[in-house]
Amino acid sequence: MSDIRPHEVQISVPDPEDARLYFIGRIRTPWTDRKACPRQGKEDGPDCQVEIFEPWVPALQGIEDYARIELLYWLNQARRDLVIQNPGHNDGTFGTFALRSPVRPNLIGTSLVKLVSVDGPVLTVRGLDCLDGTPLVDVKPDRCSFTPKAPPKD
Ligand code: SAM
Repeated sequence: MSDIRPHEVQISVPDPEDARLYFIGRIRTPWTDRKACPRQGKEDGPDCQVEIFEPWVPALQGIEDYARIELLYWLNQARRDLVIQNPGHNDGTFGTFALRSPVRPNLIGTSLVKLVSVDGPVLTVRGLDCLDGTPLVDVKPDRCSFTPKAPPKD
């Protein structure tokens, strides 16, 4: 990819060290065009579906107890080779790690979403901002409401 904005800096990226991620599901949203996606999801946004693939479905056990969950997803249509970006198409540039842009070396996006319902392998959530078909990397309970169990006594 070489179509960059004024003042942006592109690098030649090294071969990735393979983290061997599993795509554990797929996110279904109303958006098929990046420009139509919200920049950050909102809880008054539309219901979206998160489909969990086998053999990961049993890993959902207990998720229904949470009002909010965190989703991690792979922003698969973004480029990975910019270290300086120009999000406003003007003179204002920012380092990639000072932005929540989808363009980054590892294409991980996160959203804290409202869990509306759980129906077998399908979670209905509100608060997403990604394209229809975006691969899912992980699901975690909202860290604020998660209380780890006490360690077993000796
Ligand atoms: N909420 C996440 C975060 O903060 O990590 C993502 C924020 S990012 C600014 C959201 C934007 O990424 C959307 O507005 C859209 O332009 C773009 N986007 C969404 N899904 C994408 C995908 N699958 N591949 C590439 N870009 C995507």
